[in-house]
Amino acid sequence: MDFSIARRIMVERQVKARGVSDPLVLEAMLQTPRHLFVEEAFQSQAYSDFPLPIGDKQTISQPYIVGLMTQALRLKGGERVLEIGTGSGYQSAILSRIASRVYTVERIPDLARRARRVLNSLGCHNVNIKVSDGTTGWAEEAPFDAIMVTAGAPSVPDEYFAQLAPDGRLVIPVGSRGGQVLKRFTCSDSGCMEEELADCRFVPLLGRHGWSEEEGKA
Ligand code: SAH
Repeated sequence: MDFSIARRIMVERQVKARGVSDPLVLEAMLQTPRHLFVEEAFQSQAYSDFPLPIGDKQTISQPYIVGLMTQALRLKGGERVLEIGTGSGYQSAILSRIASRVYTVERIPDLARRARRVLNSLGCHNVNIKVSDGTTGWAEEAPFDAIMVTAGAPSVPDEYFAQLAPDGRLVIPVGSRGGQVLKRFTCSDSGCMEEELADCRFVPLLGRHGWSEEEGKA
């Protein structure tokens, strides 16, 4: 099945029509076969306007949110980007088409393995995947020009600020387990400017500086 028409309609109606205008982001979304990142049973819905299950109780974000978050990082090309929450690898693939290197951390080994397989098959060789607790970032590869967290955090782990390069951008959903506000921090020597971008609902960021793995506990 040829999904390229569905993909073009997705980018036009769900992403561009809602205000994502960065040509680099739109082009990356046009070029990335989203259906390869979802389970086979859901492939026909891969270009629809909602999140989809990717296994292990996790979800691939709605296309609009992927566009919005990627645009919010203000990438021009050539950056080193850290993503927390590899999941299916779809967001990593989008980032890999714009940035020069993508470092992505996933806590569930099975998801990381599947993501690696799809990313390799698409030739996204500038993505490094680590299986680990991403609430502590990836200190060995810091600093990063941009950091994107794709799971909902109770608060922003200090490590992310410490691992940002000068003039770095951090995009992260912060709030309760049930709902968050997508925030952008733009940091310089004199401190970080904080903006609220949208209401959103992500699966929880679990780990040392995130939510407890026991359901319902902080
Ligand atoms: N960006 C993904 C969607 C992510 S869903 C995509 O494009 O498909 C959120 C992911 O964050 C899940 O896969 C979940 O396992 C992962 N996650 C949650 N807490 C984490 C942590 N502390 N470190 C790394 N990954 C984490």
